[in-house]
Amino acid sequence: MKRLVKVLAVLCAMALGLCALAEESGTAGETANGDTLYQVALLQSLVQGYYDGIVTVGELKQHGDTGIGTFEGVNGEMIVLDGTVYQAVADGSIAVPSDDETVPFSNVTFFDVDETLTLSGIGDMAALQDAMNGVVKALGANCFYMVRLEGTFDAIKVRSEYKQEKPYRALDVALADDQTEFDYEDVRGTIVGLYCPDYMGGLNTPGWHFHFINEDRTRGGHVLQVSVAEAQAAFDMTDGFEMALTREAAFQDMELAKDVNEAIHRAETATTGNND
Ligand SMILES: [Zn+2]
Repeated sequence: MKRLVKVLAVLCAMALGLCALAEESGTAGETANGDTLYQVALLQSLVQGYYDGIVTVGELKQHGDTGIGTFEGVNGEMIVLDGTVYQAVADGSIAVPSDDETVPFSNVTFFDVDETLTLSGIGDMAALQDAMNGVVKALGANCFYMVRLEGTFDAIKVRSEYKQEKPYRALDVALADDQTEFDYEDVRGTIVGLYCPDYMGGLNTPGWHFHFINEDRTRGGHVLQVSVAEAQAAFDMTDGFEMALTREAAFQDMELAKDVNEAIHRAETATTGNND
């Protein structure tokens, strides 16, 4: 009898072990790159004017369900939410591009919530970044974070831009002419944010990058200014990194170690007053 109990116990343990294994591989299967941040090209190649698509929207979706980016020719701002890729085009409206559209720059991941933060009465972008940096510091500032910030925004200024034609100009130069800006007040929606650690200065830009889409999924863009009435922020800490490049000669000929930080800063933060 004692022996039978022992055998049963071993069988049970094996069964449990198999269950645990199955569950693990099941989870891994669902999100093949669960904790990997997937990046298409470099912000530095985009800023220097490499606007040709490197992956398709269909391929991008295989690497994440949440993220930000842009489209071939810098044809608007990308917001990826719940597995849908949205395109905030030059007039501030939202399109849903086909899987055949192509992408010169993007960051996506399969989103899971590692931490949350309730925000209220956040007056501006700097205050928002300060509040979110508190979570990043507590969890670890040398990983990537994808953030979903859902709530009501007292005011938000977003931009998009007109699609560029070849020969492509540098991004800050193109935006000085072709950026469009939109102001919304008392609007509900979601900001998708990416945090890159300090050491990412050669491949992206350290700190935060935010794109917004409203609750109706009809308006959106790259966030220039924001004040938050009430919002819930969910943080996905991401400890893997994968990058997609291209063998195209024009890409190979670029000087990608060149310091373009000033141009990146202008491209990410400048307002032009070109209200549409
Ligand atoms: Zn952006």
